[in-house]
Amino acid sequence: MRLILLGPPGAGKGTQAKMLKDKFGIPQISTGDILRKAIRDNTDLGFKARTFMDGGQLVPDDLVIRLIRERIRQDDCQKGFILDGFPRTIPQAEKLSETLGEMGLTLDAVVDLEIEPEEVTERLAGRSNCSQCGTMYHEVSRPPNRPGVCDLCGGELYKREDDNRETIHKRLDVYAKETAPLKEYYGSQGNLKAVKAKGTVEEIFMQVCSMVS
Ligand code: AMP
Repeated sequence: MRLILLGPPGAGKGTQAKMLKDKFGIPQISTGDILRKAIRDNTDLGFKARTFMDGGQLVPDDLVIRLIRERIRQDDCQKGFILDGFPRTIPQAEKLSETLGEMGLTLDAVVDLEIEPEEVTERLAGRSNCSQCGTMYHEVSRPPNRPGVCDLCGGELYKREDDNRETIHKRLDVYAKETAPLKEYYGSQGNLKAVKAKGTVEEIFMQVCSMVS
């Protein structure tokens, strides 16, 4: 199964992608995670991406396109994959389609997680992530039992550099201008499925699954 999860920052793409990965046994490919790791590892890619990411801007298309073209050719993607945070621009979507075409593959579905911008600001401003297993917490809706420590693996929790109000607003602007047009792009191809990102994580997951299986 080859899927794209669309939706603004904070819609829950990462959470749903992890659940889909566990259910279907296919990798979650998050360009944001790959880029953050590149920054932590001090690679050339991380060096090039950092200023864009800290400012809430998109990393240039050619960098992320190259990254995805290599990633989806890896062995663990043979049964499929979940793209989380890619594509984010029309040129990225076009290149993805070209690459899949070269590989003789097509997309099965593009799931759009719909949510109001006001809601995501609160979600993002209050969230923290486990540095080891990636589990997400929220200071109001899902606080950890011990502050700063992951309930599941004991890992240290951290806040993303770009989860501050100023950068969140910037990211939402960029989403509206650059990424939202993908809904029309995939809608016109007939494989866009909309899911209201309201309710519990499990309720949303049930809806997502009903769209893709
Ligand atoms: P995310 O973890 O998906 O919220 O992404 C965090 C940041 O990484 C974004 O604000 C961008 O700066 C960068 N990024 C992630 N995916 C992409 C992409 N497909 N195109 C351009 N920049 C991206």
